Amino acid sequence: MAEPLIPSETLTSFHNFITSSNCKTILALLGAGLSSASGLPTFRGSGGYWRHYNSIDLATPDAFERDPGLVWQFYSYRRHMALAAKPNAGHQALAQLSHNDKINFLTITQNVDGLSQRANHNSQKLIELHGSLFCLKCTNFTCSYRDPANFNDPLTESLDASSLVHDKDNLEDLPFLSDDKLPHCPLCETGLLRPGVVWFGESLSWVNVDKTDEFMMRNHVDLMLVIGTSGLVWPAASYIDIVKNQGGKVAVFNIEKDDTDTESWQFIGDCSKTLPMALKPLIDQVNLSSEL
Ligand SMILES: [Zn+2]
Repeated sequence: MAEPLIPSETLTSFHNFITSSNCKTILALLGAGLSSASGLPTFRGSGGYWRHYNSIDLATPDAFERDPGLVWQFYSYRRHMALAAKPNAGHQALAQLSHNDKINFLTITQNVDGLSQRANHNSQKLIELHGSLFCLKCTNFTCSYRDPANFNDPLTESLDASSLVHDKDNLEDLPFLSDDKLPHCPLCETGLLRPGVVWFGESLSWVNVDKTDEFMMRNHVDLMLVIGTSGLVWPAASYIDIVKNQGGKVAVFNIEKDDTDTESWQFIGDCSKTLPMALKPLIDQVNLSSEL
């Protein structure tokens, strides 16, 4: 007989905790592993190539200044792929939890693909720490135009990404696109729009960082869910430390087991499968309340 995805003692101990009166506040941190489960490449870190371009050379303010057409073709491709992907059962489980009024809940996502949003996650309980592919911002310093959710595809005729492929062996250069082929700001009419994602070398939005800090200061986080992310990089590492120092518990959802971590619950495997199983008791509460 095949081994169950989650050992029953792990599942029972986790379910006992999340249904107890000791678990009122939950913080979830999402990373690339959850997007991968929906079939999306993430282009971060080493090996982050798109065609023959290194994503680090495309995801910077300098790159945009040098060749906005090239950067826009990369992001148009990513918008197109994210729209073609579907939120998976892991996104849906978290979205349902965000509608459970008995739990004080916040999701911080490091993903920019909009899949949590499209799974109907409560927007008041969702922080897109690295921004969103579907947010557009004006590059004109004197203009504050920002469109938080633009799902148009393509954004301009020249940015039709349906023929662009993700193939790092494809050495063919992309066509040069002059500024008049790119999306412009409807407010000031002169500024180019740019993707509202946090590029390498840029700071995180202070609004988002403050919102997270406020949630962590106001509440004692009883449980932190670390999903599809190594938990070693900032800010993940600092949030986990704070929760642990305050006596909170940690549950890790990842592909590989961390043998050095003996304190956390570890759910190993595809997080689109493990998350719904782990969160089932809290999700069932949502279904019940919506039927009443
Ligand atoms: Zn503008």
